[in-house]
Amino acid sequence: MRKINTIGVLTSGGDAPGMNAAIRAIVLTAQHHGISVTGFKRGFNGLLNGEHFQLTECYVRDIIHHGGTVLKSARCQAFTTEQGQLQASEVLNRLAIDCLIVIGGDGSLRGAELLADYWSGQIIGLPGTIDNDVAGADKTIGFATAVNTAVEAIDKIRDTADAFERTFLVEVMGRESGYIAMSVAIACAAEQVLTFESRQLPSQQLASIVNHITNAQKSRGNSSYIMVIAENLWPTGTIELAKELTKQSNIECQPCILGHIQRGGRPVFEDRILATKLGVAAVEASVDGAHLVMLGEVNQSITATPLSKLALEHKTIDTFLFNAQQQIFEYHDFHD
Ligand code: ATP
Repeated sequence: MRKINTIGVLTSGGDAPGMNAAIRAIVLTAQHHGISVTGFKRGFNGLLNGEHFQLTECYVRDIIHHGGTVLKSARCQAFTTEQGQLQASEVLNRLAIDCLIVIGGDGSLRGAELLADYWSGQIIGLPGTIDNDVAGADKTIGFATAVNTAVEAIDKIRDTADAFERTFLVEVMGRESGYIAMSVAIACAAEQVLTFESRQLPSQQLASIVNHITNAQKSRGNSSYIMVIAENLWPTGTIELAKELTKQSNIECQPCILGHIQRGGRPVFEDRILATKLGVAAVEASVDGAHLVMLGEVNQSITATPLSKLALEHKTIDTFLFNAQQQIFEYHDFHD
């Protein structure tokens, strides 16, 4: 096993609250082991352009409570090409990096894996994305904060929906995954949740959503009604769906897209602790020679999953919660 002298770290893909806590833990743990840390800026862009700087203790002293990432994050199309990966490997060799830690979502982790075709250093991934769609991790860094932010926002929407007895269609983030939507819907006692995991096609869903709204009004009288929808779910978009629901149900349905407020904000304690654990574990794993793995927490244990397995395993949402929402909460109150 070779001795690790320098670790490189970058954050890639959508920023996620808690990334800073992971960076801090990496830097402090590395310092403890006498390892220096080079930070690359703007995800893989920093690797390609050689945009880097030395991360020291004073740089990470006051960052644990900030959202975003001090390393900045970005998508990087150029890195997806062989030429880009080759260029990145040349930069890593020139800087004598022994181990690269990539903090990001499934795309970033896939990119990290591909780099091994061109570079012989160790590669370790940490799951950092609000979407919680990475296999091998019960929770990704940022997920808890994003859910919390959306819950706070919808609690406020509920107040006004109650006061005006209105129906709201609230879109939350999650790319192609329903984790955020389902969690937020349960936590806000939403009357309805529309996610990719639903067994119905959108065309079939429309009729059942309309029924659900009208039945709710019939059985409860005028009252607030909140529907949570995952982004990218409705083919024509959430605003169009709201218009269609208004037309078909004759009940005004107000769309509300929460958008990027879910990505920012102070990380909640769960994300700070998860990120800290994973940051410490990543450095310790690098010292132990780990390579081409992602570290995630599974059943309260830090678990290493080969990066090659991530693309093959689709992380499904908690079936217990899903069934509860579908069978108990969603239909129970308003069945005709
Ligand atoms: P989030 O879940 O927050 O969107 P992500 O890491 O999944 O994060 P992506 O946009 O999928 O976000 O990927 C981030 C970056 O990782 C891409 O811009 C690209 O540089 C790199 N990347 C993604 N997929 C690949 C791939 N198949 N090959 C090489 N690089 C990739």
